[in-house]
Amino acid sequence: MNERAMKGLLIDLDGTLYHGTTMIDGADRLIHYLRNESIPYRFVTNNSASSPEEVANRLEAMGIPATSEDVCTSAQATAQYVAGLQPKASVYVIGESGLHEAIQDAGLRITDQFPDFVVQGIDRNLSYERIAQAVRYIREGATYILTNPDLLLPSTNGLIPGAGSIGAMLKAASGKEPVLIGKPSSILMDYSLTQLGVPNQDTWVVGDNIATDIAAGIAADCGTLLVLTGLTTAANYSSYSEAARCKPDLICESLEALIQTVSNHR
Ligand SMILES: [Mg+2]
Repeated sequence: MNERAMKGLLIDLDGTLYHGTTMIDGADRLIHYLRNESIPYRFVTNNSASSPEEVANRLEAMGIPATSEDVCTSAQATAQYVAGLQPKASVYVIGESGLHEAIQDAGLRITDQFPDFVVQGIDRNLSYERIAQAVRYIREGATYILTNPDLLLPSTNGLIPGAGSIGAMLKAASGKEPVLIGKPSSILMDYSLTQLGVPNQDTWVVGDNIATDIAAGIAADCGTLLVLTGLTTAANYSSYSEAARCKPDLICESLEALIQTVSNHR
């Protein structure tokens, strides 16, 4: 049992606070509780397609209080990571508006020619030509950065290929392994911890996915709390935990139970 204090929370979104466009029961009460008690939190998402404003607007539309400052995306963490390695670097981008915006906000230069970095996220308007160009640049020495490894993501038409599936093609063709930013990598968590302003030993990562949320929390040396509101259920817990080769410190069946747990760990 992990008895560290809960002074800050890094909270997953999909499957933790909502499904599709529907709020999970208690998500609004959780955020009101954290605000009333002045417990710092950030929403941490592997999504690289949307800007923090767009993510916050979607949460607000479901009834979950949110501002853009509450949101940490893999696109922002990617841009900060690249800027940390090489300020003002030139970047070839495979991605959507959220990634382009984050890269520009970090003072990096987007280019289609001879980049220092190839940064790749999900791009639902991807062309073979863009892929071929990215592969060529990676083979010629550009550093390959992958925003998040998700192979599939939910859509209104069911599961669709995610950034990780595009990445599988780039990896196969270039023969290079990317630097991974999103969960389960600790890089997105480290970025989010900086935004949160709470040390990792007093911060808990909350999410519904053992292989991504819990693994990332462990990698960042935070406390880890699994909620059974999404992917993981009491029935599949053992097999998912075994497959991910890790376990959360705590498990909550519902967001009401999470509120109770946070109040017990103040
Ligand atoms: Mg999730």
